[in-house]
Amino acid sequence: MLITHGTLVTFGEKNQVIPDGAILVRDGYIADLGSTAELAAKYPDEDALDAEGKLVMPGLICAHTHFYGAFARGMAIPGEPPKNFPEILQKLWWRLDKALTYEDIRYSTLVCLADAIRHGTTALIDHHASPNAIEGSLDVIAEAVEEAGVRACLCYEVSDRDGREKAKAGMKENERFIKRVKGELMGARGGLMGATFGLHASLTLSDETLEECAALAGELGAGFHIHVAEDMADVEDSLEKSGLRVVERLERLGILGPRTIAAHCVHINEREMGILREAGTKVAHNPRSNMNNAVGVAPVLEMLRRDITVGLGNDGFSNNMFTEMHAAYLVHKLARRDPQAMGADQVLRMAFQNNAAIAAMFWPSPPPFGERGRGDRGKGGRRGRLGELSVGAWADIILVDYRPPTPLTADNFPWHIIFGVDGTQVDTTIVGGRVLMKGRELLTLDEEEVCAKARELAAKVWRRI
Ligand SMILES: [Zn+2]
Repeated sequence: MLITHGTLVTFGEKNQVIPDGAILVRDGYIADLGSTAELAAKYPDEDALDAEGKLVMPGLICAHTHFYGAFARGMAIPGEPPKNFPEILQKLWWRLDKALTYEDIRYSTLVCLADAIRHGTTALIDHHASPNAIEGSLDVIAEAVEEAGVRACLCYEVSDRDGREKAKAGMKENERFIKRVKGELMGARGGLMGATFGLHASLTLSDETLEECAALAGELGAGFHIHVAEDMADVEDSLEKSGLRVVERLERLGILGPRTIAAHCVHINEREMGILREAGTKVAHNPRSNMNNAVGVAPVLEMLRRDITVGLGNDGFSNNMFTEMHAAYLVHKLARRDPQAMGADQVLRMAFQNNAAIAAMFWPSPPPFGERGRGDRGKGGRRGRLGELSVGAWADIILVDYRPPTPLTADNFPWHIIFGVDGTQVDTTIVGGRVLMKGRELLTLDEEEVCAKARELAAKVWRRI
């Protein structure tokens, strides 16, 4: 496939804007890229997809989400509304997750994936909980992910909040799924699935469980995906349990490391940032969720200054990552009353480069390309990168219907994204060279059927709650 006549915004090491550009996609990868005139002459027999002047950019990545949360939309919470974060967990999320059946999990996932494709989000790192449907739950999600055709990294959140037995079942589910994905990696499924080891949060996990998980994940060669210091309640609980702050406690118990994602990190001090930096732990910032739960503003600028890899997640909010970027741009300015805080370039660095670095843990490079005899490797370096348009990168590409009313350059592009581009303008979504949406029409999912069935199931879930 040859994508022609697009305004290419490449990201990667050196962001470039290529007017009237073209991309050659072969075997799921970007095989060549340049001007339309050049590539059309070079590959005259290739099927063309005319971008008609749209922006062509890498698909977006979400570093932290919860597919299981989709049925919460519009749900009335019984009793008094929650007045703080622990009550939001107890009254909303821990009731919802307990009510989920396998069929609910499937449709909750499909709702999120349709939303993701619509808004150009092509790789998502999920964190799942369904205490009454644990075993095999990740397979149910994986099946939906493969149907949709996006990339997703899955895990089950281990927690002691429902007792030892459920915690054990959660560990087993992580172990089983990590082994399954390892076995299938680079297999027929086209490398869509990733896996990691899920943990809920320090405040619902005992030392004993965390030690067991650390040992198990060590054997599996996996890192963790865990909520860290999202609210002060997590810090207070950790101090009470151990005399340590959350990051300190997790470090002591072997949970941090270069393959671990710490979601939120709102209430961490300088010492804890030093520990995260030292451990190479990745952080997922979720500004919309933090604002909604009124937990505080994460010290993102301080973390970025320390070279901690801070990416961007949505924590179960809409899968429109453009909206998350807009929120990230605004919240730090307001919180500091400083218009210089958090430039658009820093926001895009989190959403693209840093999220790509996080995603690279789960979608590693496939076998050498040289066997097929094309010269791409020398030109583009290592294959299988995400979050950029370059030769050798995965062909995870979106076409965005945006006609800039002011000059657009590689330097000012981030400000165009913040002030002029939204996920609703995404027209075409491609993952691994497969077109999942074209002209805003979903090609892999029947959205009407998914939503109709989800409405029916959600009503039942609400009644059970
Ligand atoms: Zn979360």
